[in-house]
Amino acid sequence: MTIVDLPTPVVVTRHQCPFCRRYTRADAKRIEDHMTRCWKNPALRNCKTCEHHLPAMQSEEYCNPDGWCACGSYPEGCDVDAAPAGATFPISNCPKWQAAP
Ligand SMILES: [Zn+2]
Repeated sequence: MTIVDLPTPVVVTRHQCPFCRRYTRADAKRIEDHMTRCWKNPALRNCKTCEHHLPAMQSEEYCNPDGWCACGSYPEGCDVDAAPAGATFPISNCPKWQAAP
């Protein structure tokens, strides 16, 4: 009798957030919880999925030719100024939210 001493493959099931595709967990319930606050979930009407979103460094001119802003002069923003004064980005449930194309 021969004993086969080889690594045994193990197949596991994980679940992934369908919006960001970065969040994965074995437990589907954890994913469902995450989806209610995922920045990429368009149902949350937040800046990250809105066509008015201005990502950091693209708000105006670039500070340096590589398009990377070291001074923070052009942080994340909104091109229709929908964010309430003093709000920190991204905001959710925005009345001016429109799906990014
Ligand atoms: Zn997600």
